[in-house]
Amino acid sequence: MRRSILASALLLCVSMPLQAASPTTIPDAALTTAATLRQQALADDTGWKITESLTTEVGPRLAGSQADARAVAWAQAKFKELGFDKVWTEPVTFPRWERRSEHAQVLGEHAQSLVVTALGGSAGGTIEGEIVRFPDLAALQAAPAGSLTGKIAFVDFQMHKKRDGGDYRYGGGIRGRGPSEAIKKGAIGFLMRSAGTTPHRVVNTGMTRYEEGLTPIPAAAMSIPDADQLERLLALGPVKVRLALDCGWDGEATSYNVIGEITGRSKPKEIVLTGGHLDSWDLGTGAIDDAAGVGIAMAAAHLVAQQHPARTLRVVAFANEEQGLYGGRAYAKAHASEIKQHVIAAESDFGAGHVYAFNSNAPASAKGAIEAIAGALKPLDVAYTPDQGDPESDIGAMAQLGMTWAWLGHDGTDYFDLHHNADDTLDKIDPKDLAQNVAAYAVFLYLASEAKGDFGSAPKAAGSEKGAH
Ligand code: ZN
Ligand code: ZN
Repeated sequence: MRRSILASALLLCVSMPLQAASPTTIPDAALTTAATLRQQALADDTGWKITESLTTEVGPRLAGSQADARAVAWAQAKFKELGFDKVWTEPVTFPRWERRSEHAQVLGEHAQSLVVTALGGSAGGTIEGEIVRFPDLAALQAAPAGSLTGKIAFVDFQMHKKRDGGDYRYGGGIRGRGPSEAIKKGAIGFLMRSAGTTPHRVVNTGMTRYEEGLTPIPAAAMSIPDADQLERLLALGPVKVRLALDCGWDGEATSYNVIGEITGRSKPKEIVLTGGHLDSWDLGTGAIDDAAGVGIAMAAAHLVAQQHPARTLRVVAFANEEQGLYGGRAYAKAHASEIKQHVIAAESDFGAGHVYAFNSNAPASAKGAIEAIAGALKPLDVAYTPDQGDPESDIGAMAQLGMTWAWLGHDGTDYFDLHHNADDTLDKIDPKDLAQNVAAYAVFLYLASEAKGDFGSAPKAAGSEKGAH
């Protein structure tokens, strides 16, 4: 007996350096409390009230605008009203872009106007040119250099509805890189079919970025029915369009990440992070993108606070996500030395559809705890999907530095009907779905806070990849 214990101890000593930390677990008592929280959250309308308040009292809040400044004040007041222990702001500076007016007109025999919106970051200007249609970005890239001299490139790619919003990879890619590709071929303007899925005559904006060294050209998206119309007109013969955009850069702006904390009862220095982004595009009221995310995160932490969680809950309403993840990057810069303290994080920035999936890139030592959290989410009709997900937008920079992420995947089937267009308004949110979202985040936050052991957050060398996604 004695010998065998000694032998086991020796074996343990030998194998210790090869093993990860002892397994992270979730106490049974915490799982019981999580079940109560789940029911409470489903019957609670705090998330809805917050989302309603932001979209109504502030409305659209383009980064760097007056409304953005009002949103910062709103978030500070809301955190305080909800009883967060600590509330503070951290500055985020970025170039300011403004949209003033936008028009497009088919010229000649079939003269008529087209419903367009400037892409964020677009240059202003009025141009007239013949339309050259490309079915996708690859076709534009394959066009001979100089072949679009004096012309307007039109990329006519249609996104399809997918639960994970997968087509946005292509639609967003066209928006981001299309104008630069068009410039390289000599184009004087760029038009694209909206990176969206709505049949309504609204247009999805979003950021574009011109490659260094290129002279920016006016770049706009048009609504899906307008893109269909342009396609029909092109079938009749050459089409000339006048595109008039009054928009552009106007100096620098400073906004703020607004942060609220519920201090942990026994591990106050260890943080479970959540949040959404406070800014929005200017066309709708930024309800699904991302007032809902702010509402979900604030409401979930507020509910969990009543259970006095062990670790600190930190909610960040990030500044200027839309124009280049400025808030998330500023947060990562300011907190780069605190990766280990950020035990795990989950952001909400994919609308307010039913949360249907859960995953994390936590290491094997924490898999048991992740599975226990997944089990507590199951009654909410959330599946554990170990091969899916990613850190959503703003926490990506921290995840790159080594912070462990969790993913609560929203059903995005209808997300691109609304994303970045004038239809992104409060009425499109289903209060029941929003309550389910809050319940899922509350369960995650509470159990992550109560977990015995960590989730593997640790600083890592720049460039190395963690997790499978
Ligand atoms: Zn967003
Ligand atoms: Zn967005």
